[in-house]
Amino acid sequence: MITKLLKTKQFIPNQYVKTFMEIDFEQLYKEGKRLILTDLDNTLISYEEFTPTKEILDKFDYLEGLGFEIVILSNNHGQRIRTFIKDIKIKGYANARKPLLIGFNKAIKNASKEYPKDEIVFIGDQLMTDIFCANRARVYSILVNPLKQKTEKFYTKFNRKLENAKLNDIKSKYLQKYNELNLEKRH
Ligand SMILES: [Mg+2]
Repeated sequence: MITKLLKTKQFIPNQYVKTFMEIDFEQLYKEGKRLILTDLDNTLISYEEFTPTKEILDKFDYLEGLGFEIVILSNNHGQRIRTFIKDIKIKGYANARKPLLIGFNKAIKNASKEYPKDEIVFIGDQLMTDIFCANRARVYSILVNPLKQKTEKFYTKFNRKLENAKLNDIKSKYLQKYNELNLEKRH
């Protein structure tokens, strides 16, 4: 299979947390993280939603209060991202082509300042796109559970199949890490 050619290590996140809301951002700030790059679909809102929920808006305010800059990096199309950020001051990039670094590089270049790699944290719900992209870019990565898997598109469903194979690889090659991260809960 194609994924066999890709090194398992490239798919191991630095952290696995159930949801974006539950991430310990204060700790991340203490550790020197300043820029949050986050996926949109199934990380911040489900495919059925179009605009930020009150919960997300409050979280963004809180994060900016802490001193984070937030940038959205999505593989989805422009209209979807524009609708989401319409009434908020956050930058968002569509067609990021994760796990390629095209969108990532653009987002970094256009951030409010130049962030060193160790100040960047990348958050997303997909191993094959978000975590692989973060690891390729050598930035800190956090995997979250998809908010609502039922409404995912066919290519995302395909990625989930690859992801399960990768999770099994991680389990067999890096069992200690797998247990530390609690990845068993991901299956
Ligand atoms: Mg996603």
